Amino acid sequence: MTLSSSPLLERIKELEREGLAAIKEAVDLDALEQSRVRFLGRRGPLASVMGSISSAPPPERPLVGKAANAAKKALAEAMEARKAELAPKRRRLASVDGTLPGRKLWAGGIHPITQVMDEICGIFSELGFTRARGPEVESVHYNFTALNIPLDHPAADMMDTFYLEDGVVLRTHTSPVQARVMEAHKPPIRVVVPGLAYRRDSFDPGHAPCFEQIEGLAVDEGVDFVEFRAAIHHFVNAFFGPSVECRFRPSFYPFTEPSAEVDVTCTVCAGSGCPTCKRTGWVTIMGSGMVDPAVFEQVGYDPERWTGYAFGMGPARIAMVRHGIPDMRLLYEADVEFLGQFA
Ligand SMILES: [Zn+2]
Repeated sequence: MTLSSSPLLERIKELEREGLAAIKEAVDLDALEQSRVRFLGRRGPLASVMGSISSAPPPERPLVGKAANAAKKALAEAMEARKAELAPKRRRLASVDGTLPGRKLWAGGIHPITQVMDEICGIFSELGFTRARGPEVESVHYNFTALNIPLDHPAADMMDTFYLEDGVVLRTHTSPVQARVMEAHKPPIRVVVPGLAYRRDSFDPGHAPCFEQIEGLAVDEGVDFVEFRAAIHHFVNAFFGPSVECRFRPSFYPFTEPSAEVDVTCTVCAGSGCPTCKRTGWVTIMGSGMVDPAVFEQVGYDPERWTGYAFGMGPARIAMVRHGIPDMRLLYEADVEFLGQFA
């Protein structure tokens, strides 16, 4: 008897052939698992061949053991390969359900403050205003002195800001652009200036240290308070709707004279009084006034010939009034769930 004709070795070869065929024919993972149990299981034929090694003649035993291990390895490898072929098929089949609705795609939206800014600029563009922009890092001259705000003036205190180096600040309002536009252009001028401004304010429900502002400036011959009021009325009507009223309240700004704060009917309570409007029924939306002749002199305009009005408002506050948002911080936190409501 030669070793190659050993019955145990023959049996191992036969089992390997049968096992490989069964693996190849397995149509799914369940069938594959059945062939694994059948050929490689603890009670399978290969295991019993291993168990009967002791009955083989001693010189044959190492060869039988080696052949049995090689067969096991070949079967296990074939099994893994077949499994990889079958697995994606199974996943695909399981996930196909023609009745399921499509997955919603992620879509970005425009931030509520940006929406408000675009809308405000759009309304004023109907009145002939174009957009202007200026630097956020500004000189003390443009931020304060050119606007008739001496540095020892209380208004400069109120707008305390971040000083970068001598004479350079992060602008506390978009008003410096007024002076820049007036220096660069001759009247008539009608501009709106959207942009960011900075103040050393705490981050609380009503304030943010960095916030958007929109400034407006009109300079022309014969511009008077009547035109100014008409422009603001037009804006309030277009933006908030005809049911919202507005009123002018005397106020003080160094660069306008006379100055007025503009209030609109509280949209949360329709004017009857609520916590948002501090029970007054009114919400302040902007500061405004006729441009102070001293500002015209600073930029070389003849105050005898030119008159104008200016206004400034905070789009974040206006977005809060419009949507009834109680806390400004919500607008500046990247909470997609919250902001998604306005997209
Ligand atoms: Zn109210």
